[in-house]
Amino acid sequence: MGSVNPPKTDTDPATGRAYLRDILKTKPIVNNPIKGRIEVDTERCKGCEVCVVACPTQTLALGAEVNTKGYRPCYMAQPEQCIGCAACAMVCPDSCITVYRAQRA
Ligand code: SF4
Ligand code: SF4
Repeated sequence: MGSVNPPKTDTDPATGRAYLRDILKTKPIVNNPIKGRIEVDTERCKGCEVCVVACPTQTLALGAEVNTKGYRPCYMAQPEQCIGCAACAMVCPDSCITVYRAQRA
């Protein structure tokens, strides 16, 4: 009996698609063909950092400036690292983030 290699990705049983976490593990981010960009509604952002933690490429950070409510909105501290995965937008409790994607040149 030979050993069977485990699959490189798990799939979502509902959709049959690979989970994002597994895609990110198996596809080097530097070779990702998609370049992402986000826009943050800085007046609505409450600086909770949920998006910063969720970003798989460490693109985001809280800024030094405060908005009119006294919160420090997040921003793209490492914009070249964004792959447009939209994890940040999905976890933001106040829907402050819009994601844009383009092919890398
Ligand atoms: S779209 Fe993805 S890679 Fe880009 S900032 Fe949001 S979580 Fe990070
Ligand atoms: S998750 Fe939303 S509210 Fe929290 S820091 Fe990010 S953009 Fe701001």
